[in-house]
Amino acid sequence: MRSRVVYLDNNATTRVSPEVIQAMEPFLRDMWGNPSSIHTFGGQVRRHIERAREQVAELIGADPEEIIFTSCGTESNNTALKGIALASSPGSRIITTAVEHPSVLNVCRYLGTTGFQVTELPVDGQGRIDLDQLRESIDEQTVLVSVMWANNETGVIFPVREIAEVVKEKGVLFHTDAVQAVGKIPVDMRDVPVDLLSLSGHKLHAPKGIGVLYVRKGVKLVPLLHGGHQEKNRRGGTENVPYIVGLGRACELAREHMEEEQTRIAALRDRLEKGILESCPGARVNGDRAHRLPNTLNVSFEYVEGESILLLLDQLGICASTGSACSSGSLEPSHVIQAMGVPFTAAHGSVRFSLSRDTTEEDIDYVLEHLPGIIRRLRQLSPFVKE
Ligand code: PLP
Repeated sequence: MRSRVVYLDNNATTRVSPEVIQAMEPFLRDMWGNPSSIHTFGGQVRRHIERAREQVAELIGADPEEIIFTSCGTESNNTALKGIALASSPGSRIITTAVEHPSVLNVCRYLGTTGFQVTELPVDGQGRIDLDQLRESIDEQTVLVSVMWANNETGVIFPVREIAEVVKEKGVLFHTDAVQAVGKIPVDMRDVPVDLLSLSGHKLHAPKGIGVLYVRKGVKLVPLLHGGHQEKNRRGGTENVPYIVGLGRACELAREHMEEEQTRIAALRDRLEKGILESCPGARVNGDRAHRLPNTLNVSFEYVEGESILLLLDQLGICASTGSACSSGSLEPSHVIQAMGVPFTAAHGSVRFSLSRDTTEEDIDYVLEHLPGIIRRLRQLSPFVKE
């Protein structure tokens, strides 16, 4: 048995918080009626959905009517992109970036095979897009621009307000995948002219299998799921009541504690970063350090395989991640790291550490105690290094 688990993979998923579980329980056990039913037993559940809708709306500065509950971030992204594409004429253009999550990138690529024009904007070595290039690529056919709020692998935060302003100047719709941003940094629809925004419960201590698509009033999109009249005809399917209630509570907790929590988390992340850079020669941070999620650190270790690092960390109970597609049988570095032009010798050795409110100082110390030795051992095995 491992003596401990140090979970530093919170961009993959977070632990469901006890308060969220507590809020959900009555809707699994006692209040299991269908919120669309006419009878009181079912109907009483409806007001809890509406309360959760308000809690989500409060966290992102939206009107509750602009919140559509979905099954996950992937569904939200699919609904936004396909929903706008289907409401537009064939041949329309969608602009996105080369570093989006697959639930945006692969939808755009699919739409590209059905007659839509797709532009993938490149990023620079820090993972940033060029706003002038964005402006120039918006043509008469463009109906939608989709740029993530924050990158899941590097934590790089995009200048969403400036991007939205450029897009709106051209009279085009703007969608942002804010799955990694919501709950970690302020996201406020009153400040930023975003038309559509995706978020996902399991990135902010709610369960997997619940998401939201924010749709600004007046924006027309074709639903992904046609069916009953749920979500005001915008998403058919009986509502996942316990999860909706859980997400509402998670958003309330994020709103109450985000500022103080994220300050503490950023300090721990910075300590981890400093410790790694000081103790591991050939380590480099990937992504724009000045504009980064407080919880994320992506480091490349030159001449070492990220997967080997993860396996050795795992033996010590430390959970981290590479962005690479190794789970799909390929050892290619991730599309994000490749798009940033990280040199080949470093791209393969990239590791993401992502912290949360559950991370402690002892967790960070434990990683710093063991990681330098792991890197040294693996380097000694590398045919490219003579130390
Ligand atoms: N978008 C980003 C940026 C993500 O990090 C993720 C999940 O990793 C998703 C979308 C997909 O969310 P879900 O797992 O809820 O489908």
